[in-house]
Amino acid sequence: MKELYSQVNRKTYYISMLTLIALMLSGLILSTTELSGITVGYVIHFFCVAILAVCLLIYPKHETYVFRKIIILFGFAYFYTMFFLYPETWTTYILICLIPLLAILFFDLKLFYFSIILNGVLIVITFGYIILIDQGKIYSYVHHDIVGNLINIIASQVLLFLIFHLSFSRMKKQQLYHEQLQQSERLKMIAHLTAAVAHEIRNPVTVVRGFLQLYREDPAFDDPIKKKFNLMIDELNTVEQITSQFLTLSKPNRDQQPEKVDVNDALQSVTGLVRSYAMLSDNQLNIEAEENCFIFINPIEFKQLMMNLIKNALEASTMGKPVTVIAKRNHHYIEIKIIDEGSGMSEDEVKSLGTPFYSLKSNGTGLGLMICFNIVEKYDGEINYESTKGVGTTVTVRFLATDGK
Ligand code: ADP
Ligand code: MG
Repeated sequence: MKELYSQVNRKTYYISMLTLIALMLSGLILSTTELSGITVGYVIHFFCVAILAVCLLIYPKHETYVFRKIIILFGFAYFYTMFFLYPETWTTYILICLIPLLAILFFDLKLFYFSIILNGVLIVITFGYIILIDQGKIYSYVHHDIVGNLINIIASQVLLFLIFHLSFSRMKKQQLYHEQLQQSERLKMIAHLTAAVAHEIRNPVTVVRGFLQLYREDPAFDDPIKKKFNLMIDELNTVEQITSQFLTLSKPNRDQQPEKVDVNDALQSVTGLVRSYAMLSDNQLNIEAEENCFIFINPIEFKQLMMNLIKNALEASTMGKPVTVIAKRNHHYIEIKIIDEGSGMSEDEVKSLGTPFYSLKSNGTGLGLMICFNIVEKYDGEINYESTKGVGTTVTVRFLATDGK
């Protein structure tokens, strides 16, 4: 709520509070004649005014829950003192009905419930006093129609409850909208930045690929070397396509057509790339893929999806723990499972997966799974996480199978 408060015009707050304080002070000065001198009641009245005035003035600099509660408690003390000290001024009766409104000033749900309950209790005590002790001697305006007055007071509290809830839920919605706007601004900024970076990467890649293509045609190089040039050119093509794909995540990309992909082949080529990564931390990477598993997908995007999921599994695993990838046909679907015995996740952590920038790694981007979820959604697939903290994680990806060649 703090941001919303800072939006409130401070000037308006101070002008209103100074006016209120001036009114309280004038009431205090007038009461000296009414009370014929300095009595105990007057001293209580004086302290309530002084403390409330100071609290209201310094509140914008100490926006804490405790401070709000103090203001509300002194508000209660002030208004009930007025009610019992100056019975002729029957309008204080209206102010008592309105005390829970103080919580609206702070937009604090807990404090509102607190003040409406406290006010309810104090009203019951006050009515009890008027009926049993006062018996209408001083508070004749209440005693005259005690049931009518009680109904009015209850109605006023119900109305306050309604007003508070309606405005509170509106404020909450506004706050949510404000947060979403900030998040989308952040995403937009990241998209611009990555666009610039990818552009910078693509240029040197094009230059290197151009030279490699030239050397490939050069008779000065032997055939085995030319084969390696071909491999390098292929890898550079992948780099180029991945950077463009990353950038156009939000836009449909017409260049990347889906085709029939052999899951086993694709997994072999992905693991070829990740294997060296797995060896670094001594993780065994096992692939168990059935033959003749075909899906209709863009091969680059499929490899990117598998690469991200396998990389996450490896990163979650401690030294020496295996990561297993199983691909098999299950009725009309091809099911790919990536199983690790790594750190695992709690239920809440699993729920947060795919949220942009959600990462528990010190050097993570939290973008990998967002991209994965996008790819799975694009090809009408399903992705499911089963994880137990400290035991491991199984990710299941499912796509509709396409018939073999
Ligand atoms: P990054 O890898 O850059 O952190 P990701 O989007 O790929 O971003 O993953 C987000 C987070 O999800 C990771 O930081 C990690 O905490 C958690 N995570 C993903 N996969 C696994 C897994 N197999 N085991 C445990 N945690 C995982
Ligand atoms: Mg990752």
